[in-house]
Amino acid sequence: FAPWEDPGAKPYISFQNVTKRFGTFTAVEDLSLDVYEREFFSLLGPSGCGKTTLLRMLAGFEEPTEGELYLDGQPLKGVPPHKRPVNMMFQSYALFPHMSVADNIAFGLKQDGMEKAAQDERVEQMLKLVKLEEFARRKPHQLSGGQRQRVALARAVAKRPKLLILDEPLGALDKKLREETQFELMDLQQELGLTFMIVTHDQEEAMTMSDRIAVMDKGVIVQTGTPAEIYEAPNSRYVADFIGSVNILEGRVESTDDGHVVLDGPDGKITGALRGASIDKGTTAWFAIRPEKIEISRTKPEGAVNALEGEVWDIAYLGDMTVLNVRLGSGAVVQAAMLNRLRLVEDPIGYDERVWLSFGAESGIVLDR
Ligand code: ATP
Repeated sequence: FAPWEDPGAKPYISFQNVTKRFGTFTAVEDLSLDVYEREFFSLLGPSGCGKTTLLRMLAGFEEPTEGELYLDGQPLKGVPPHKRPVNMMFQSYALFPHMSVADNIAFGLKQDGMEKAAQDERVEQMLKLVKLEEFARRKPHQLSGGQRQRVALARAVAKRPKLLILDEPLGALDKKLREETQFELMDLQQELGLTFMIVTHDQEEAMTMSDRIAVMDKGVIVQTGTPAEIYEAPNSRYVADFIGSVNILEGRVESTDDGHVVLDGPDGKITGALRGASIDKGTTAWFAIRPEKIEISRTKPEGAVNALEGEVWDIAYLGDMTVLNVRLGSGAVVQAAMLNRLRLVEDPIGYDERVWLSFGAESGIVLDR
């Protein structure tokens, strides 16, 4: 089973109660995190939440104000960046403008005193990896933004650091190339047995590539888990909102019996399963449900635990699925998504139609407000 589920597993990276202040501003606050060897770990969060600061402390460009950082069991305090078995690829991946692509990639190898023949071989491997074999002799200004980013990636991987830290590594790539490169990065990480710590604000990217994700907000980690855990069981509205789309249905807690909560909301009652959370009767709570977990029908479905009636307000055809915005009686708009292959193409649901939205108690998650 996975190292993070094994209480005996030794973390490779360990942040222990790390705080980082810049003057009076706290960028990272009392943060603890363990990452394991060969993990593909992503830090996800909005701009300014402290992701880059965390990486910079790991790479040695910043020292924590408080707390300790360990790499492979060794304390990192006072260890300069070049003495750490870490390579960092920055958001602004400055390439040397006067050097060719091949020389840029070879730079770190040369500095380490690697023999010329071995350097050439490694550079060739790297060029192949990032699919830039024909561009070896070009200068950075003769490349597109995406190509430059791939050179930077090749340069960061060339030295085979045990730990590779990547700050928005795919930011400059267009959607198609970005998706391809995501899978290449995953293959690369597995092939070379590296540990990857990556910063991104793109949740889809984090979901695609990561073994685990930490979602950050204002200098703290609000949830750590596998992509499925974070998506299926977000521990707060913040996390639910940040990863994917979510509908939030509000209601007063009417009862909390048999592991279920009944919420009395403006559009009717909603029954949700309590997954370990404790919710007090009489308080206001949320039921968070993903659009694709909601069934849509023209007639009221028999025996559905939850069924809400509404009117189709907006329709977005996305190819693989259709997303409907349905307006409930209270004016609240609920988003429901259906896979197009499951629908009758001859008789699609149209604008202004009355529809029923139904879902089971387990389809969403009850959140304390
Ligand atoms: P982004 O996604 O925009 O890169 P981030 O989550 O990586 O954001 P950080 O770069 O870690 O955010 O910055 C966290 C906070 O710390 C920000 O509010 C930033 O302004 C502040 N900060 C970062 N470096 C410094 C510094 N050297 N001096 C003062 N404030 C700083």
